[in-house]
Amino acid sequence: MKNMKFLINNPEQSKQLQQILFKLGHSWMNKKELNYIIQPYIYTNSDLYLTYGNDIDYFHRNPKISQNTNQFILQHSCLHNTINASTQSCNQCGLSIDEI
Ligand SMILES: [Zn+2]
Repeated sequence: MKNMKFLINNPEQSKQLQQILFKLGHSWMNKKELNYIIQPYIYTNSDLYLTYGNDIDYFHRNPKISQNTNQFILQHSCLHNTINASTQSCNQCGLSIDEI
């Protein structure tokens, strides 16, 4: 999985993002609990342990792939309630049951 970096705009957005990242297998040192919600930057890493930061220069220098946080949240949120039992994914947006 490619490593990503996220700019966090507010605590509520941080919570939404973390819940999605937990479902995708990421965690804070093995804990899938909301944490660091006031921190402005969240990073994913190859070992699947999340890290956070508050240094804007580090954020911009970091070569991880920058994600639009709002867009990422929307792309990983299914509101359709049309799960196909045989494919285990949403008929409309294609997200798998593990991602939503
Ligand atoms: Zn859907």
